[in-house]
Amino acid sequence: MAAQQFDLVADRLQIPEEDRARLKFPKRSMVVALPIRRDNGSVEVFSGYRVQHHLTLGPTKGGLRYHPDVALGEVAALAMWMSWKCSLTGLPYGGAKGGIACDPGKLSNSELERLTRRYTQEMIPFIGPQVDIMAPDVGTNEQTMAWMMDTYSTHMGYTVPSIVTGKPVGLGGSLGRRESTGRGVAYLINRAMDVLGFEPAKATAVVQGYGNVGSVAAHSLAKQGLHVIAVSDASGGLLNEKGIDLWKLDEHLKSQKVVTGFSEAQPISNEQLLVTKCDVLVPAALERQITEKNAARIQCRILAEAANGPTTPEADEIIAQRPEIFVIPDILCNAGGVVTSYFEWVQDLQSFFWTETEVMDKLFRILETAFMHTLTMSRKEEISMRLAALSLGIKRVQEAKKMRGLFP
Ligand code: NAD
Repeated sequence: MAAQQFDLVADRLQIPEEDRARLKFPKRSMVVALPIRRDNGSVEVFSGYRVQHHLTLGPTKGGLRYHPDVALGEVAALAMWMSWKCSLTGLPYGGAKGGIACDPGKLSNSELERLTRRYTQEMIPFIGPQVDIMAPDVGTNEQTMAWMMDTYSTHMGYTVPSIVTGKPVGLGGSLGRRESTGRGVAYLINRAMDVLGFEPAKATAVVQGYGNVGSVAAHSLAKQGLHVIAVSDASGGLLNEKGIDLWKLDEHLKSQKVVTGFSEAQPISNEQLLVTKCDVLVPAALERQITEKNAARIQCRILAEAANGPTTPEADEIIAQRPEIFVIPDILCNAGGVVTSYFEWVQDLQSFFWTETEVMDKLFRILETAFMHTLTMSRKEEISMRLAALSLGIKRVQEAKKMRGLFP
C-alpha cells in the first residue's frame, strides 16, 4: 500500500527515476532474534524488527508495535508513512517503525519486560537520541518506553531520557503526549466540520478501536458536542443511536477490559460498525479496515483516519468517486502523536519542561498549518486530500536530498 501510494505521487510530481529509488527504499532494515526465558522456565525466541526509512533531515522517529502480525513488510510500510508524516508537519526527522511479533496479552508483565529489554539491547548499535528514537504504538505503552530508556541508560552509564518518547511524565515524558494523537484527531475533525459548515452539536461519530487514540478522540469529540453513537475494540462493537455515555463505558472497561458487554448499548460487529450511518467515521484500530468490500457502503461525511493505513488503495479509488466524503488522511490525521513526541524530545534535550497548555497550543498550531497547506493544495490542484498530504511530505524529502547531494 505504501509503495503503491508513493508511486502514484511520484508519477504525479514527475520525480525522476534516480530520485525515486532513493526516496522509496528504506535506509536500514533490521531483523533480530529475541530469546527470552518464559515464566515457566522454557526459552522462546521472538522476532523483532526495526526499519529506518531515511536519515536525510535528522534522526528517525517512529513507534514500536507488539502484535502477532508484525512483519518486516508491515514495519517498512509504517516507516515510510512516518517519513511523509514528519515531513508534512515540518519535523526534523525521517520515519521509522519497529515491532515484535508477539501477543502482548499472552505474556506476563515480567516476560514483557524481559522481551523489551532484550529488543532494546539488540538495537543499541542502531539507535540513539540523534539516530533513531522510538515511541509507543499498538500493544506498547509508557511502561514499555520506561524499560527501553532504563536499558539504554544502563548501557550508556548515565540517564538518557531523549532515547524514547511517550515515557511516563515522571521520567521526562511530556505533559499531553498520551492524549496528543486523539486530541489532534478531534482538532482536525473540528476544522473539517468548519470547512464543510456543519454543527458539532448535531453531528454523530463512530469510532473503531477504543484504544489509546480512539478513546481520547471519542472523548474530545463528545466534549465538542458530538454524539458518539458507536465504538468498538478487538472484542466487538457497541451501538446506541442516542449517544454512548463514554464515562460509564470507561468504568465498564476498567473492570471488564473490553467494550463488549456494556449494558447501555446494543452489540454490533466491527463490519457493521464501519458502515453505520454517521457524520464522522474514525477508524482508530489497525490497517486495511476500509477495503473494496465496504468502501461503497460507508455512510459518513468525514472519514478521519486516526489509524495508520486504514483505507486500502482500492477503497481509496471507490471513495474518490464519492465527493460527499471528506477524507482527513492518516499522515495528517494522526500526526498529533509524533508532533508531541518531537516536543518531548526537545524538552528532554534541553532539560526544560513545558506546561500542558504550551504543548497543546504548539501542537494545534502545527496541525493547523499542515491542514491548511493540504487543503489548499487539494483544492488548487483538484486532487484528493491524501494525494495532497503525501505530495507535500514527499516533496520536502526529495528537495532535502537534492540539497545535500550524493555522497561520495
Ligand atoms: P491501542 O493498542 O491503544 O488501541 C488499538 C485498539 O484497537 C484497541 O482497543 C484494540 O482492541 C482495537 N482493535 C484491534 N483490532 C481491532 C479490530 N479488528 N477491530 C476493532 N478494533 C480493533 O493502539 P493505539 O496506540 O490507539 O493505535 C491505534 C492506531 O493509531 C494504530 O494504527 C496506530 O499505528 C495509530 N497511531 C497511534 C499513535 C499513538 O500515539 N498511539 C500515533 C499515531 C498513529
